[in-house]
Amino acid sequence: MTRAFNFNAGPATLPQEVLEEAREELLDYRQGGASVMEISHRGKLYDAVHTEAVENFSKLLGCPDDYAVLFLPGGATMQFAMLPLNLLSAGRTADYINSGSWAEKALKEAKLVGRVNVAADTSKAQPARLPVADELQLTPGAAYVHITSNETIAGTQWKEFPRSDSPLVADMSSDILSRPFDIKQFGMIYAGAQKNLGPAGISLVVMRKDLAENAPANLPQMLRYKAHLEANSLYNTPPTFSIYLMMLVSRWILKQGLENLYRRNAEKAARLYAVIDAGGFYRGTAAPEYRSDMNVTFRLPTEDLEKQFLKQAEELRLQGLKGHRSVGGVRASIYNAMPEAGVEALCGFMREFEAKNG
Ligand SMILES: *Cc1c(COP(=O)(O)O)cnc(C)c1O
Repeated sequence: MTRAFNFNAGPATLPQEVLEEAREELLDYRQGGASVMEISHRGKLYDAVHTEAVENFSKLLGCPDDYAVLFLPGGATMQFAMLPLNLLSAGRTADYINSGSWAEKALKEAKLVGRVNVAADTSKAQPARLPVADELQLTPGAAYVHITSNETIAGTQWKEFPRSDSPLVADMSSDILSRPFDIKQFGMIYAGAQKNLGPAGISLVVMRKDLAENAPANLPQMLRYKAHLEANSLYNTPPTFSIYLMMLVSRWILKQGLENLYRRNAEKAARLYAVIDAGGFYRGTAAPEYRSDMNVTFRLPTEDLEKQFLKQAEELRLQGLKGHRSVGGVRASIYNAMPEAGVEALCGFMREFEAKNG
């Protein structure tokens, strides 16, 4: 056993079972004489993979018939651009809630395309938090309202999504399928795969089909949701191996059960926050009611102690705990695939480190 506990924010740890299965099938997929990445994306073997991936995600998210499940290249950042290019038509306004670094990136991209209203801004709040309902200044008739369901860097997570009359759109990159929610609250959700769903460079996009009708006539096909929707994400050669891995992860999530995963995720996070709150040595950086179950962010009394903490953790094969370069500190990313044993090991190390240095 050579695998470490990997707390990286993304790309992040994947379920070991999934990696083993992919290894098992790598050279000769289903007796086809080749790997999944070497066969036609229009052939029978790959078609079964693609169809199962669409069906599994549709099932996991409880999608009604008027929603489409898409696999699009380019990661979540590509969606920052595609979303306004398709939905923010001339003369309309899109509302963006700026809750931190990722929300801000999304809204900056939208500003290049059209008119944006910042409906609330908690991006500079210390401790990190999210806006409450009566802080929101929503535009009547907005093309859409954009939120970031989990701020991966700040370590905040919406526990209840805001309501609006305009279609709600969420960047769910860092908490997709970590908990159940009602997809019908949203016009569209999207997520880069590398946190909870698979490898980097591809996004899951789930959208109400009618929203794909609004794109301007001069938008190139490859940037157009409708082109991908009509082609069932086979408009061009899709990232077949990534979709295959996402299909394996979707199977794994179905096997775990979303409710079970949610309960386990909440427990894992609660354990870490309990250690943080116990002694006054560690300091959580997010306000308790907005704390993320996915990215647990905290500081130590000094930057020097943080350096020692990270170094010693690394020696114990607790990897990837360094906070984002823009904020420093420590961040434990504990997505679906982080086993309880990893969180237990980290809690144990934190208590020991505190006992020695507190
Ligand atoms: C990681 C992340 C992104 C960026 O994803 P890319 O695949 O690098 O484009 C966007 N939004 C959130 C919330 C993220 O956590």
